[in-house]
Amino acid sequence: MYENIAAISTANGTGGVAIIRISGKNSLNTALKMFKPAANVKRIMPNYMYSGNIIGDGFEDYGFMVYFKAPRSFTGEDIVEFHCHGGVRIARGILKKVLSSGARAAERGEFTRRAFLNGKLSLASAEGMADMINAESLALVRAGSMMYFEKLTAQVRELQDGLKDVLARSAVEIDYPEEDSDGVDFAEISKKIKSLQQSVSALIKTYIGGKKLKSGVTVAICGKPNAGKSSLLNALLGYDKAIVSSQAGTTRDIVEGEIEINGVKYILTDTAGIREQAGEIESIGIERAKNAIVSADVVLSVTDGSGEADIPREFSGKKFTVFNKCDKVKPSGCYDVAVSAKTGAGIEELKEKLAQTGAVEYASDKVFIIEERHYDALSRAAEFLKSAADNIGSYTLDLITVDLKEAWSALGEITGETANEEIISTVFAKFCVGK
Ligand code: GDP
Repeated sequence: MYENIAAISTANGTGGVAIIRISGKNSLNTALKMFKPAANVKRIMPNYMYSGNIIGDGFEDYGFMVYFKAPRSFTGEDIVEFHCHGGVRIARGILKKVLSSGARAAERGEFTRRAFLNGKLSLASAEGMADMINAESLALVRAGSMMYFEKLTAQVRELQDGLKDVLARSAVEIDYPEEDSDGVDFAEISKKIKSLQQSVSALIKTYIGGKKLKSGVTVAICGKPNAGKSSLLNALLGYDKAIVSSQAGTTRDIVEGEIEINGVKYILTDTAGIREQAGEIESIGIERAKNAIVSADVVLSVTDGSGEADIPREFSGKKFTVFNKCDKVKPSGCYDVAVSAKTGAGIEELKEKLAQTGAVEYASDKVFIIEERHYDALSRAAEFLKSAADNIGSYTLDLITVDLKEAWSALGEITGETANEEIISTVFAKFCVGK
């Protein structure tokens, strides 16, 4: 166990309750120096809430104290929490008192770092927790929680176990080559390595969707002036964000808004109407619109019957033609969905279509790779496995085991087993103070 650390664990703002957390071997002694229980208490029991006066720096507050005894606590050490009234000045005043009573200020993510070092969670689980905390969409909360609940770690450990198995078989042959010379079945080892390669590449593939879950699926709404792009953006958002006007050239810059469809975040951009003979300011808007379209995952090409706008050739995503103003004009020609941005008809169908674009093959019970760090480690593991698979016929087994061990070690960076100090520090530096 380490020295006491303390921090305000709730967000920096005014709220009903604020929590000040202390972790370390003397946390209870420190806490008791500044707590007056309301009732006569002989002994502080773990996991019970005690009401009483919390002594802050220059004031007292009435609140609660709870003690979690090591190792049954978040960090695996003795933890004490003060639950006080949620005023910024109150929480800071109590923290100040804690720091002068026997603790030092915790660094970013230091509580979770201790939890990791004490074996309470894997590194991937800690990252999943941070992803959950920072998530802006339900899908990201779920993807983060899959990691937090060690689902990714379990898959990675299974791969590592598979590697260990191959390594053990190879070791027998390396150590006792003279015994039973056909004891090692190279075809069998090769088959196992190939199967591991497939599992690793299946995980790697989830990063395409995982990245989208994190950043959001980008949807550019484009079309000729007055087709109803701004109206469609507003209809999809459910509130008026973009200015709607019958005067062509009204949207001169990109207007963005976010919606969640089936839990996934979509970033919608209303692009300036692409037309010839535009003024200087509008031309800049059109240039930006083109860039937004090219980098978008999906383009909604809006038409009201007067034709579609040209989509830059560089666009390689999915395009949907949306026939707008179906309350006024009978849809005709080629289109994917007919809507009326004015009445809302067809808008839900359009949302369903967006969810089916395949930009994210989202399933709530699926493990997604959402951290670039994990993607890098898996990619390295894949390279070592490929090298082992390629060389199995031509090199000696001990050379192949070098690759297999490297693959094992790369996978271990995800769970934290083989993560060095630099990796660990980088992970926890992204956390907030108090977590
Ligand atoms: P943008 O230039 O493509 O962004 O088009 P706007 O959204 O500004 O709309 C241009 C005009 O078409 C406005 O007068 C809107 O009120 C009208 N409009 C947009 N959508 C609809 C619709 O679904 N039905 C009808 N009847 N009018 C619409």
